[in-house]
Amino acid sequence: MMIDNPTPLDVLVVAPHPDDAELGAGGAILRLKADGCRVGVLDLTDGEPTPHGSGEIRARETAAASQILGLDWRGNLGLVNRSLRATLEARHALAGAFRQLRPRLLFAPYWVDAHPDHLAAAELVEAARFWSKLTKTDLPGAPHYPQRIVYYYCVHLRLVEKPAFVLDISGVWEKKRAAIECYRSQFITGRPSQPPTFLDRLRDQAAFWGWSIGTDYGEPFASREPVGLASLRDLA
Ligand SMILES: [Zn+2]
Repeated sequence: MMIDNPTPLDVLVVAPHPDDAELGAGGAILRLKADGCRVGVLDLTDGEPTPHGSGEIRARETAAASQILGLDWRGNLGLVNRSLRATLEARHALAGAFRQLRPRLLFAPYWVDAHPDHLAAAELVEAARFWSKLTKTDLPGAPHYPQRIVYYYCVHLRLVEKPAFVLDISGVWEKKRAAIECYRSQFITGRPSQPPTFLDRLRDQAAFWGWSIGTDYGEPFASREPVGLASLRDLA
């Protein structure tokens, strides 16, 4: 993928399907934007077909959610939904995007999941991050190594994991919810309307993670490496 005149990003969230970034990292995206960071989302596939969606509907929903999140950039790598695999070709395409967008921080889906696309996405981000720094290749852009990968939870399993850290998203929860609600074809149409609805469940989970750190709402994240603190003042 050739990206026209890319301005380097601070953060790039890589998502297997449009809506995964909103579900797992919507709060972090909104908080990073409030901190003045340049944030982008790269969807690996268009997420279709689904029972109530279409390529056109999904693109409209994605644009609306991107606007609520205030993204600086959003792209789609055009890989095939339901058939996502961490192939060399996909690694080349993703590493090329990293070298052009030059994020310091990457977000990837959590590495344990029932959805094969999500597993492939996690593997692909790690492999492409490594390739991104190579010299003497035909990859576009200059060598670049994103400093850290943080893993967000958008998991098709009822996992009860211990996260590496929980981010306070109390101030942005309503906006995160609004971004998720843009995906009507995925989370509202055809779903039970009796409470607890799918959105109610998401709110309850955000409230649980908020409770775990003494705030109203939280968003959990995983890391393979220890998470360093710049200062103990950052401890909530
Ligand atoms: Zn997904």
